[in-house]
Amino acid sequence: MNTWQLDTASPEETRRLGCCLGREIRQPVVLLLVGELGAGKTCLAQGVARGLDVPADEPVVSPSYTLMNVYPGRLEMYHFDLYRLSNPDELHDLGVEEYLPGAGVALVEWGNRFPGLSDDFLQIEISHACGDSRRFTLSARGPVAGALLERFRQAWQTAA
Ligand code: ADP
Ligand code: MG
Repeated sequence: MNTWQLDTASPEETRRLGCCLGREIRQPVVLLLVGELGAGKTCLAQGVARGLDVPADEPVVSPSYTLMNVYPGRLEMYHFDLYRLSNPDELHDLGVEEYLPGAGVALVEWGNRFPGLSDDFLQIEISHACGDSRRFTLSARGPVAGALLERFRQAWQTAA
């Protein structure tokens, strides 16, 4: 597995990181967002939405109650939060198979609770570092996610 680790120092920087990732996405892909409550999964998703050209008047909010929110963009963005799901039947009721991958970009908070959701995915693990810092550990599995991770890493390092 291809991996990359970096830190952000603020929510704004996490959104910028997400936007940089979103800009590099050119085809349907699955992003699994892993990390405890308050880690910054939704914050990163807000940045990804900007990078996918989701209009700024579409606020990206936590899907913890709706389980899934859909946003229009260059590619559609499907934002899931599986925290409240307890068994795989509920996943099926939600119709996740249709989106992993589907016609757009699936971001799945707590996606690690249900292993095997997809065989090509970028996993983004977020953990608290000092103060407002967050540590991101990205690992790609499969060719689509692997190519995306490479482009994203280059774009971020070039911008820095
Ligand atoms: P999650 O979706 O993982 O539960 P959220 O994105 O909803 O987390 O919330 C993250 C919280 O942490 C926000 O209140 C945000 O302002 C705060 N925060 C502080 N530092 C950072 C950072 N570096 N990156 C992301 N969020 C941060
Ligand atoms: Mg969240």
